[in-house]
Amino acid sequence: MTKKYDHIVVGSGISGLTLTLILAMNGRKVLLLEKAPHIGGSLKRFYKKGVPFDTGFHFTGGFSSDGVLNDMLNVLGILDRIKPIFLSAPGANRFVFEQDGKVYDMPSGTDNFRAALHSYFPGESAVIDKYFKLVKKVCHATVTFDLHKIMLSANAIDEDFISLEQVLDSLTGNANLKGLLSALCLCYGVPPKEISFANHARVVVGLYESIARIEHGGEAFIHAFADRFEQSDIDILCNTSVAECADIKNNCVGEFVLDNGDVVAADNCIFTIHPHEILKILPRKHFSKAFVDRVSSFENSNGFFSIFGVVQNADPSTFGPSIVSLLPCSDLNALLDPIYKGGTALAVIRSVEEARSKTHCVITAFEPEFFSNVSQWADSSVGRRPAAYSEYKACKVEEISRRICNLYPQYRKEFSILDAASVLTFRDYLFSPEGNAYGIKQKMGQFNLFGKLPLVNIYVTGQSAVLPGIVGAMLSSFIVARSLIEKEKYSNFIERRLSP
Ligand SMILES: Cc1cc2nc3c(=O)[nH]c(=O)nc-3n(C[C@H](O)[C@H](O)[C@H](O)COP(=O)(O)OP(=O)(O)OC[C@H]3O[C@@H](n4cnc5c(N)ncnc54)[C@H](O)[C@@H]3O)c2cc1C
Repeated sequence: MTKKYDHIVVGSGISGLTLTLILAMNGRKVLLLEKAPHIGGSLKRFYKKGVPFDTGFHFTGGFSSDGVLNDMLNVLGILDRIKPIFLSAPGANRFVFEQDGKVYDMPSGTDNFRAALHSYFPGESAVIDKYFKLVKKVCHATVTFDLHKIMLSANAIDEDFISLEQVLDSLTGNANLKGLLSALCLCYGVPPKEISFANHARVVVGLYESIARIEHGGEAFIHAFADRFEQSDIDILCNTSVAECADIKNNCVGEFVLDNGDVVAADNCIFTIHPHEILKILPRKHFSKAFVDRVSSFENSNGFFSIFGVVQNADPSTFGPSIVSLLPCSDLNALLDPIYKGGTALAVIRSVEEARSKTHCVITAFEPEFFSNVSQWADSSVGRRPAAYSEYKACKVEEISRRICNLYPQYRKEFSILDAASVLTFRDYLFSPEGNAYGIKQKMGQFNLFGKLPLVNIYVTGQSAVLPGIVGAMLSSFIVARSLIEKEKYSNFIERRLSP
């Protein structure tokens, strides 16, 4: 007999986990499908010689008392399980412009961040204030940040149609100031000339207010969700996806054929995966050529080449969490351009991790990497790559190691790299088409794939829908949940969950 669900959710990264839990908390029967052997997507950690390493989630904003991440975790009933470790110590968020050796330590808190900019760029005070005024304006006008008011068709504002680069160019000619204000492009993977000022502001506002790592990284999220799922009516199938949409009548899918051969029915199916992967599953004849062309034309964001290392015998009490962004130049358009021949940006993250009663001083570093760098080995898979790829990887590891040892000469002898990953590794473990970090590039003026599709019981959410990063991915699922459980029920749910 065909099993019947209220909803099928495809993909179990933070978007799928969030949506599944909201639906289950509202009494819905949900089937969660995951192509990988385990749930979690980019939140997953891996262990090498007993040391835990983060893959696709290192830090986030949004944790201030009125931050939207705080609210979302509260609604989901997992706030007490997600413990932020704030990067608030002096020097914990540092930007180094290597071309002129300038070092900028940016403190936590928007006001402190702005004050630090004032002191670094005394002649640019008015410009800095104007920039922050604009960021504030965008965020006030963004209903998405208020869980009560979010909706699928939020009104665009003027700043959605002007690029970050245009705004910065209109404000100042100071290259380092522009570089500092656009450096966080690395946290969403779109260069200043292509991102709207509004989306830039929506991502960075939380990071200015506070940057936090999470105790036990993304694993804390996965365990918290898994425990909540046990109390709900949720079936989870890993190593499984939707192979085909069948029995389509009046633009409504009657049955979903899974790639394990099972057939299930559901009122609707929500995809939280990359738009290009969704396109592969959708029955083409139900979609116009224009729709297919639009989705196919979305460009992928960059990915990262990452190294995972440890420092033996370091003192954990002085190894506190920090991020140092090494920027060979202040031009973020160049640093996010696949054909740029200059040096690469490198984010170096230090953290103290506990695992199996042991304490580890961990350094993870990642530099933007583009699929074109490794496309010649695209047909290979993990463990079966040619020697030339291993050489490419070894060269990168050596260069990154050199930069880390220059940054931290005191760890030179005790630092060792236990593993490294290219975008091909990310592609193969996370099932992202090109190992891209943020799904598609969310370019200014682009009409992303989001909400209900022309097949009326197929929906889309996920990191490529509204904003990238875990906050944007979760928000997109809250917005779609509002449509699925209906406006009034959703409002009561949020009201109930957020009331003191
Ligand atoms: C190296 C790296 C560093 C990053 N650092 C940060 C950071 O520090 N902070 C931050 O906020 N964000 C960071 N990000 C981005 C962040 O991880 C993502 O924006 C967010 O986690 C995406 O969540 P998601 O649920 O939309 O997608 P994903 O986490 O990609 O989950 C999608 C899931 O769908 C599964 N799937 C794919 N295809 C199918 C299919 N056909 N059927 C079933 N399942 C399928 C995948 O296996 C995966 O589990 C980083 C990403 C990378 C790669």
